[in-house]
Amino acid sequence: MLYPLQFNPIYRQYLWGGRRFESAFGRMLPPGDRFAESWELVDHGADQSVVAHGPLRGTTLHDLVLFHAQELLGIHASQSYFPILFKFLDAACTLSVQVHPDDARAARLSPPDLGKTEAWVVLETNPGSLIYAGLRDGVDREALSDSLRRGECDQVLHAIEPKIGDCIFIPAGTVHAIGEGLLVAEIQQASDTTYRLHDWNRVGPDGKSRPLHIDSGIEAVTQFGPVHKTQGHTTDDASVQRLVESDYFILDTVRPAASWRVGGDHRCHFLVVLEGQCCFDPQWDIASMVRGDCILIPACLDTQYLHCENPTTLLRVMLP
Ligand SMILES: [Zn+2]
Repeated sequence: MLYPLQFNPIYRQYLWGGRRFESAFGRMLPPGDRFAESWELVDHGADQSVVAHGPLRGTTLHDLVLFHAQELLGIHASQSYFPILFKFLDAACTLSVQVHPDDARAARLSPPDLGKTEAWVVLETNPGSLIYAGLRDGVDREALSDSLRRGECDQVLHAIEPKIGDCIFIPAGTVHAIGEGLLVAEIQQASDTTYRLHDWNRVGPDGKSRPLHIDSGIEAVTQFGPVHKTQGHTTDDASVQRLVESDYFILDTVRPAASWRVGGDHRCHFLVVLEGQCCFDPQWDIASMVRGDCILIPACLDTQYLHCENPTTLLRVMLP
């Protein structure tokens, strides 16, 4: 029998990262390094979330999908892997400008990976921090190509200065970059196909620039025009605002009252605490969850009652 599952985070150290997982989430990181990403839910090849507690401790997410598909996924049990990847990103420096292909182009350009549609929720921002999302009005493939081949991008990218809580939905084929000073929650298709279009003319510690993929990248661009932050929509549950409803995932923000009921609907729910504190039924033996904590509620469980401090804010991800 499955139970609400917590996984060990998988950290990624890249040059653009920082130390915000300590300051924002109270986590203990080893000294001295830059922590760029914390992968909280992943079943992608060798990258595997591992259960952190209880009888299934040490089990990978992929094995849960293989051996407990019906219990874990319910109405989505036909999936052969967990199709969603969730991570936090600490962008101490601006990331490269990139694009991910859609499923059809990924199948052609980088099989067997699928495309990547993603969405971001901004958790922390510095004054002036920018998100680059889409292209300015009137920028077509040719103008984008000219600009990239000249080694510039500023004149073609659409930039926004996000506020905490803003959600930006990036369909596959959209040019995008996360700017310096942002801490972001990212939900995406479990795929790793990225084309780097522009790297701000930076060089690494070895004095070399990172490779660009301008030709395949330009071919992968299918979305033109600017992307704006999403407008949330109300749902049947007064605590829940729907931020994204896409072919790949549903993303909600939840502001529960003292108690919130979730699950019991034959689908799994992935919850992320952004603010406040909440507790599960004591039978599960789960410590109270705070900012940065995540949990996957399997589809087979009855309705769960979360007891929440006021105010508490959660993200909830479901499969469509
Ligand atoms: Zn991306």
